[in-house]
Parts: sequence; C-alpha cells; structure tokens
Amino acid sequence: KLHNQVEDAKGNIRVFCRCRPLSKSEASTGCSTVVDFDTASNGELGILNSGSTKKTFRFDRVFTPNDNQVDVFSQASPLVTSVLDGYNVCIFAYGQTGTGKTFTMEGTEGNRGVNYRTLEELFKIAKERVDTFTYDISVSVLEVYNEQIRDLLTTSSSSSKKLEIKQASEGLHNIPGLVEAKVENIQEVWNVLRAGSSARAVGSNNVNEHSSRSHCMLCIMVRAKNLINGECTKSKLWLVDLAGSERLGKTEAQGERLKEAQNINRSLSALGDVISALANKSSHIPYRNSKLTHLLQDSLGGDSKTLMFVQISPSEHDLSETLSSLNFATRVR
Ligand code: ADP
Ligand code: MG
Repeated sequence: KLHNQVEDAKGNIRVFCRCRPLSKSEASTGCSTVVDFDTASNGELGILNSGSTKKTFRFDRVFTPNDNQVDVFSQASPLVTSVLDGYNVCIFAYGQTGTGKTFTMEGTEGNRGVNYRTLEELFKIAKERVDTFTYDISVSVLEVYNEQIRDLLTTSSSSSKKLEIKQASEGLHNIPGLVEAKVENIQEVWNVLRAGSSARAVGSNNVNEHSSRSHCMLCIMVRAKNLINGECTKSKLWLVDLAGSERLGKTEAQGERLKEAQNINRSLSALGDVISALANKSSHIPYRNSKLTHLLQDSLGGDSKTLMFVQISPSEHDLSETLSSLNFATRVR
C-alpha cells in the first residue's frame, strides 16, 4: 500500500461541517440566521445561542452556504486515491432532514454531488494507472430501513428475501445474494444509480419521507491487480446518505412512525458509539449494535479512512437540532 504521510498525520477520521443556505421561504419570511462564519478559519463556526452567547465548534473544514459542490468535492477527493491504493473508505452525511445530506451526496442532475464525482474521479485515476494496474469496479445499492437491508438493484421477485451480513474468509464482510453491478464507465454508474433510486420509490407513497427515514447506501467494490508484482487487493468504498437525525415531534410518537424513529435513533447512536470508540482507541468497537455499523465495519476503523459530513441549517427555527448535530459530530472527533 502506498503511504500518504500528510493524511496519516491527520488521522483516519475527518469531520466536515456544511451549512445550507436559507431557503427561499425562510428568507422571504425574514427568518434569521444563527450560524456565524465571520471568525471561520476554514474549520470554525459559531452558533449564536439565544442572542448574546456564542458557542464555537471546530471541524476539519467548514463549508458555508457559498461553497459549491466543486469546493466540497475538492476536499473529499484525496479519498478516491486512497481507495485505488487499497484502503477502505467511508463517506457519509449526517444531519436533520432538510439540511442537504442528499444534496451533498447525490446532488442534482445539474449540480452533482459526492457520489457521482467520486466515481468519475475513480475512473479517471484508474485510467491514468492503466499501465500498472487493472481495476475491476462494481456497485451495490441498498437501503436500511427498520433494521432490514433491502437490495435496490435486485430484479428478481425474491427482493423481499432477508439479506444478512457474513464475514467472508478473506476478512471482508459481504452480503450473500446482494447484487453487485459491474461498471466500466461513469455512464454505466449513472444508470445503476438511477435504477437504485427508482427501486427506492417502489412501495412507498411518499418518497421523500421514506428516504429521510432510511439509510441509503452505495458500496463500491474495487478489485485491483498490480501488473508489475502481481499483487491483488480488494477495497470497499461506502457512500452513505443517512436517515434524518431529528427527534420526533410529540404528535408523531406513535405506531409505525415511533418504531421507525427508534430504529433510526438506535442506529445513529450506534454509529456515534463506533466512531467515538475508534477515536478514543477503545479496545472494543461495538460494530454489531446496528445493521448500519455492521455493514460499514470494514470501512470504519483499522487503516480505513472515514469522512463525515455534518449537515446543518442556518435557521433560528432549527437551532436545537443544529446544536444536537454539532454535538454529535464533536463527540466523534
Ligand atoms: P436532506 O437530504 O438532508 O433531507 P436535501 O438534500 O433534500 O436535505 O436538501 C433540502 C433542500 O435544500 C433541497 O431543496 C436542496 O436542493 C437544498 N439544498 C441543500 N443544501 C444546499 C446547498 N448547499 N446549496 C443549495 N441548495 C441546497
Ligand atoms: Mg435526503
């Protein structure tokens, strides 16, 4: 494996904070902003709490509402090289619904996000290395909803079949039966991602609501062969758009909605527990406490590299959720 000393020096877990702009309706109703970037030295932001007090948070990087998708990806792209060098990587977006998790990861057709740009970069670098490496790249798309894994690429009628995580002999975890679509270029990836999105919509009457309550996960498997020494490596890149981290309103706290919320809560706490255990170099890392952390196990910890986007809203109305997300992110740093 190649070594990037600059990256090593910074450790394997990075946290970026991204604040979305005020929406049109927030702006038109004169909603005020509680996020202060004035003192921001790239990595700092202040939250104006009830007028007078200001609480400062530090991250590896803070993106303001003025930063665009290119700015964001330019800071994430070194991880693409790591994947092709044989490292496992996990990039995920955490935050309240409506703060831009999907915007950061998926983006829009005219303004693509981390997922598309990452794969584009992956193919670009792979091509540059064609004389020394051959790469086999495949993509799986799945979601975790109520602690159940659903394959979004399967075309068989057995799509309701329960998927389970197994530890494979060579160390990496896998999910027997999960579709891995081999991709050779970015257009093929795009088709696969589109198929995944439309499968996600099937069986839910409100797509947006459903997607904010499930974790959407892309897994990119890279099999590399070094043509010079014959060495083969396998690495895994997870790109995850997490379920919304917001707490339930009192009126919603019943029935199916309550069960969903408890599952989301449990899995996001499990993720926080795993990352903070890793950050504290704890001897026991509790991967098995949720499907989410169990799935991500190969790409969290060890010599793998993790990047978390904590997404926030600038609005005064979201202050308590914003503080709770920033505290979550601080805990894992
Ligand atoms: P989430 O996935 O966290 O629920 P979305 O990604 O759906 O949030 O974002 C909510 C809305 O805000 C969308 O209309 C999205 O396009 C917009 N948005 C989010 N972040 C940004 C940004 N940085 N710049 C412009 N628009 C954004
Ligand atoms: Mg979303």
